[in-house]
Formats: sequence, structure tokens, C-alpha cells
Amino acid sequence: MKRDYYEILGVSRQASVEEIKKAYRRLALKYHPDRNPGDKAAEERFKEAAEAYEVLRDPQKRELYDLHGHEGVAGSGFRGFSGYEDIFSSFSDLFEDLFGFSSGRGRSRSPMGPTPGADLRYDLAISFENAAKGTETEIEINRMEECPECHGSGAMPGSHPMTCPTCHGRGQVVRTEGFFRVSTICPHCGGQGTVIANPCKKCNGQGRIGMRRKVKVRIPAGVDSGSRLRLRGEGEAGLRGGPRGDLFIVLHVEPHEIFERRGKDIYCTVPISIVQAALGARVEIPTLDGPQPMDIPAGTQGGEIFRLKGKGFPDLRGFSPGDQLIEIKLVTPTKLTDRQKELLEEFAELERGKNEDGGFFKKLFKKNGLHDSVSDKTL
Ligand SMILES: [Zn+2]
Ligand SMILES: [Zn+2]
Repeated sequence: MKRDYYEILGVSRQASVEEIKKAYRRLALKYHPDRNPGDKAAEERFKEAAEAYEVLRDPQKRELYDLHGHEGVAGSGFRGFSGYEDIFSSFSDLFEDLFGFSSGRGRSRSPMGPTPGADLRYDLAISFENAAKGTETEIEINRMEECPECHGSGAMPGSHPMTCPTCHGRGQVVRTEGFFRVSTICPHCGGQGTVIANPCKKCNGQGRIGMRRKVKVRIPAGVDSGSRLRLRGEGEAGLRGGPRGDLFIVLHVEPHEIFERRGKDIYCTVPISIVQAALGARVEIPTLDGPQPMDIPAGTQGGEIFRLKGKGFPDLRGFSPGDQLIEIKLVTPTKLTDRQKELLEEFAELERGKNEDGGFFKKLFKKNGLHDSVSDKTL
């Protein structure tokens, strides 16, 4: 279980960005790897705090987290940090304030090492049937891919990036301001430590270019709106040899004309006539597998619900599937022929005879302990 980000930083949920930054600085100092060499617990605390800070300092991520917790932030494509390098380079400004130029780790080796490609999100609408049965589809997305011309180096084929002459490969330059030495990202190479004398024409020296790509998506049976599929390695290409990001498919199930989803069950209403309800009948029921006959017993009431076992949605975790629920809607005839009217009146006559001993209203009033002031005749 991941801990609550506010709890990790020890701030209230209403904390300002400034308070959050302060809290993080304090923890980063306390658990910094240079101060706790080889201490696994400190390392965990250090990473945990960095992740909490990364999310809470960003208003958008913070809102997602407040609304949906860790899940919400993960859904936005946030992936945390791969290690110390990642943390130091993300918050370089902060660590420079804290420790000065020399104590950021490994910075002189590789100012901006391999950077993972970004995760992507794609919203996909699918039909009710496909959500129930599963399907396979192909989507098209724009994403950054390694430049095929320079294979990601950014340099013209045949040439190579060279050490930056301004920072001599450190990626940082140091200025003196009064008593302080301030280090900033090298303006010449942008912190990479290398410059490209002959940039690749295809990608303008970026090493990546945007491309349109087709991706196959397999949708398992039983998914619902908001279900998220993770396609590993189908996000953007990394930079300088970094790993690819992932692609998150967020599903939106379209409503169905007849069916409604209730948890794992499928609900629908089936209209039958009062005569069918009274006498019993065999009717056709719509199911996801097509129409299916069902016997309605004599004396069925409107609103009664029948259950077709196992005809609902499959369970994503492999438990038993849901059922189909069929609610009976009674339909009163509106256009009666003279003959039908005659028969119904005859029927009503017979009913009146049956109810002589106490009709609906009599029963109602008896039950409520009230005097019977309504006679059946006036109905
Ligand atoms: Zn290129
Ligand atoms: Zn430079």
C-alpha cells in the first residue's frame, strides 16, 4: 500500500505550494543519500518524499490526487521516479539550493542521462456488446518515435555529438554572485553536456520525431466505463536511450438501446399484455446472444423480475458472471374492437361477482382499521 502524499510530507490537505516545498526540502535534507549511505529505509523515505512532492507541487496532479488518490495520478500517466538520478535531475534547482554545485550525485558524469519516454492516454469508446464479449481493435495515435535517420542521436548520420565547449561536458555552469556560487544549466548545450555540430535534418537534432502509429488493442470481456488498459512500451520513445513510456487506454462504454448495466448484471424491461400476464405465455427475450424464448407463468404481475442465470457480464477477475434481469412491464390495450370490449365487460361482470365479499377498498380499509365508507358499487 502506498502512503498518503500529505502524510508523507507531514502537511495538511490545505497546505500551500510554499509549505509543501518547505516540507519536502526538510525531508530531502534528512534522508539525502549522502547523509545516509547504505541506509535502505532512508532511501525509501527519500524516494517517497520526492514522489509526494512531484505530485503535490503540480496543481493538476494534486487535484487528480485529491479526487481519485494514487489511482487518479497513475491514470494521468505519472510514473514516479526510477531512481536517485531521476530525482536529482527533476528537482535540480532545489538540490542546488540545498547542497551547492558539487553534491548533486553523478551530475558531472551525465548531466541529463537517459530519460524515459512519456506515458500516453487514449480514450476509446466501445459498444455495450463489445464490453460484454471482449474484442480486438486497432487505434491510431501520434507519438514521439526514435528518429530513423540518426537513430536517436540527433546528429547527422556520419557525425557525432561533441563535448560542449562551454561547460566541458558538465552540463552546468557556475556563476559567482556576491558570496554565493550559483550553478545553472549550461545555456549552450541545455544541460546535456554535448552539442551537435551537424544536427540531423529529419529531427532537427532532437533525436525523436512525431509519428502516426497503429496500435492493436485487445479488450477483455467484462470491462466497464473507466476501465484502464495498460500497454507497456507503447508510449513515447525515450531520450538518450531511456525506456519507452506506456500507453493507457481509458474505456468508455456506450449506452445500449435495450440493456442497462447494473454491476455485473444486465437489466432490461420486457412488455407483455395483461392477457399474457394473466394466462401465462411464451415470449421472446432479448439477450446478448440474441433473442431467447422464456415462459411467463400465469398470474405474472407488472414489475416482477425474472433472472436468467449467467447471462450478464463476465467477471474480469474470473469470478462467476452476472445475470440478466428481466422486469415485466404490463401493457394495457388502448384500441379495443367492439367484440374485445364486450368480452372485457363480461369479464368485469364476473369479477364483480367474485368480489362481493370484499373488494380491494374493503380490504384496504380493514387493514388500516378505518370504517368502510366506500361501497364497491360507486366504483
Ligand atoms: Zn534524426
Ligand atoms: Zn554545455
